[in-house]
Amino acid sequence: MPAYHFGERMPRKPRCGYCRQTGHNRTKCPVLKKRIEERLANDPNDWWALHHKERMKPKTKADRTCSYCNQKGHTRRTCEVKTSDMVFMKKYIIEGRKALAKVCDEHPELIGKGDMFVSQGQEWVGGEYVDYKRPYITTGIILDLDHLVPLVKVRSIIPNRHGILEEGTVQLVRVLDKTTDHDWSLRLQPAGKSGKRLTFSESWLRGDDLDFEKHVLFKGGKAKRDKRRQYSVYSLVDHNAYIDYESIMKAVKDG
Ligand SMILES: [Zn+2]
Ligand SMILES: [Zn+2]
Repeated sequence: MPAYHFGERMPRKPRCGYCRQTGHNRTKCPVLKKRIEERLANDPNDWWALHHKERMKPKTKADRTCSYCNQKGHTRRTCEVKTSDMVFMKKYIIEGRKALAKVCDEHPELIGKGDMFVSQGQEWVGGEYVDYKRPYITTGIILDLDHLVPLVKVRSIIPNRHGILEEGTVQLVRVLDKTTDHDWSLRLQPAGKSGKRLTFSESWLRGDDLDFEKHVLFKGGKAKRDKRRQYSVYSLVDHNAYIDYESIMKAVKDG
């Protein structure tokens, strides 16, 4: 009997659904196996025996269902849909990052490091709503497996009432088409351009931070629905979506 640590659960022994003994399951049951053989010896066409004999056959590769694409005949590990999705997503993100870097390099007037925005509104403080006005500056751009549309990172330069410099994101397309004040999460009014370039490291441009195999999109989560090919992936793949310099510049609103 092995020792179990506090907080660990004892592994449950399987209980056979046919003979009710523990230690094996129905597909390995010696009692069931014997019964099938007896009945087939008596009648080779015994429907019950043939049915259970079929069910006791070890599952072959052809019977397995892929948890990623839900097709039979292979597993997640060798799934070609998953492999091609990963190749697609890598290209999507890496080319997207290069395009973003090019736009930032050539157009610091559109999006620059330290561009200022003001967030204005009301917040609940000490039992009443009070007006607040908080300046934010841009600090970078995000595009990765958790954020499949480019986001601009912003950080408040004045601490909130808890002494914290709040951080947030706003979609890049909103910065470019000047609709940051429509964003549902953080309403920002443009308040000044820095003219400084946002720059990116070589390793970010190469995507060194992206671990496709380990990401939940491809590794899969615990629940069955989290193992499936996700909408965020197949909607991009099916539309052959991409982010390039021209598509980013198309979002720019003049004036
Ligand atoms: Zn049994
Ligand atoms: Zn598959």
